[in-house]
Amino acid sequence: MDLPLCSFDLRTGIFCPQCAEKLRRGLYTDLDIKVMKKLLELEKKITKLQKAGYVKTVDGGDVIFVVLREGSLQSLDFRELAQLRKGLAEELEKPTRILEDSPDPIKFIERLASPARVVAVNKIWLPDGSEETRIIFDHERNLKVSPESLIRVVEEVKKMRLSIDFEKRWRRRESRSRKVSKNAQVG
Ligand SMILES: [Zn+2]
Repeated sequence: MDLPLCSFDLRTGIFCPQCAEKLRRGLYTDLDIKVMKKLLELEKKITKLQKAGYVKTVDGGDVIFVVLREGSLQSLDFRELAQLRKGLAEELEKPTRILEDSPDPIKFIERLASPARVVAVNKIWLPDGSEETRIIFDHERNLKVSPESLIRVVEEVKKMRLSIDFEKRWRRRESRSRKVSKNAQVG
């Protein structure tokens, strides 16, 4: 498996200067190390994982999200996927979701939020000059992950600040703000 840290370092627990620097900068945590070590072990049984690539693991509270490079899971059959999920969940002692990254952040968010659909994306500039992306999903009941964990995963994997809204509420708010600005014009 293609890992951001040397597999030799992961096996021995002694990190070379390059890997130590990545850890010092906080790019990877103890959780990442634990998952990468387990993946190296699972790779021996699930040999197709040799072609996979590791991105990041994020603890979303009730679920741990393991993000692999796009295409990593493609060749795995149902049995191998189940074996992978079981192996990681046992190691982490928490429900684990494995998903693929995407170079397109919105596509990544859709993968994460499925079956919820993204109906609109707004960019918002905050008073401090930073940017926030507001994602509007179709319906709250379709979102099976908690909004907090979704925000955390996207922030760590895509370095994006996110806020979440749902279509009904969003439309109501939009029409209200339009009415207000119309009245303001009349007045
Ligand atoms: Zn190294």
